[in-house]
Amino acid sequence: MKFNILTIFPEMITMFSKIGFIKRTILQNIISLNIVNIRDYSDNIHKKVDDKTYGGGPGMVLQYPPIKGALSSLDNKGYVIYLSPQGKILTQEKLNLLSSYNEITFLCGRYEGIDQRVLDEFIDEEISLGDYVISGGETACMAIIEGITRLVPGAIDDMESVKQDSFQNGILDYPHYTRPDEVDGKKVPEVLSSGDHNSIERWRKKQGLGATWIKRPELLKNVKLSKEDDKLLKEYIAEFKDNEHE
Ligand code: SAM
Repeated sequence: MKFNILTIFPEMITMFSKIGFIKRTILQNIISLNIVNIRDYSDNIHKKVDDKTYGGGPGMVLQYPPIKGALSSLDNKGYVIYLSPQGKILTQEKLNLLSSYNEITFLCGRYEGIDQRVLDEFIDEEISLGDYVISGGETACMAIIEGITRLVPGAIDDMESVKQDSFQNGILDYPHYTRPDEVDGKKVPEVLSSGDHNSIERWRKKQGLGATWIKRPELLKNVKLSKEDDKLLKEYIAEFKDNEHE
């Protein structure tokens, strides 16, 4: 899968490409990053790519010509995404869909944003990280690339771990524990060392449902629980309420 990233801060993405999971998936040819510096397509002697906003007001705006130049330099653009607080908010469902594409181009904004004519002419979709404003599209783009890459076959050794991730089945992941067995007087739940796979499976399902009920109850409205899951959730809630009264 190929990602083209158009940015005025290529160093941010270069750094990202040299660390951990993303570095490994690049070395394994599972993904590739083509980082394009928008400044390389500026006609200005100082490589300026922004100018004042028409109509007056604060802030600068990224200009149309260098972005057009950067986009034209690509052999293929694939699906073109502008990272924007005005876009649809990113969801796991959207990441699942994007992971089926062969090539995606990300356009990272800065300052007040990008000349509207770029968006009208070249962009397939605007995507937002959430209802808040950050200073540039680069961090949003890196979040999306990480989210997509996890889903590309071969990127994660055990794809089962992806299937159990939060949101993949509409609910949150269950709690995880590792050694030591006891720390500061807190023990790992006994069932997890029992070797009884059915009981472990049941416990995990119940904890995932319970975590969803406590942290993100609205998610439960959108999932159809099986009879067994409904029973597990009721058990969790009853135990939770009993503990509250103790
Ligand atoms: N004036 C713009 C507005 O209010 O819609 C915000 C500009 S913001 C300071 C600069 C750039 O950061 C944007 O062009 C966009 O690429 C990126 N950005 C800011 N917030 C974002 C968000 N929530 N999701 C994705 N990208 C965001």
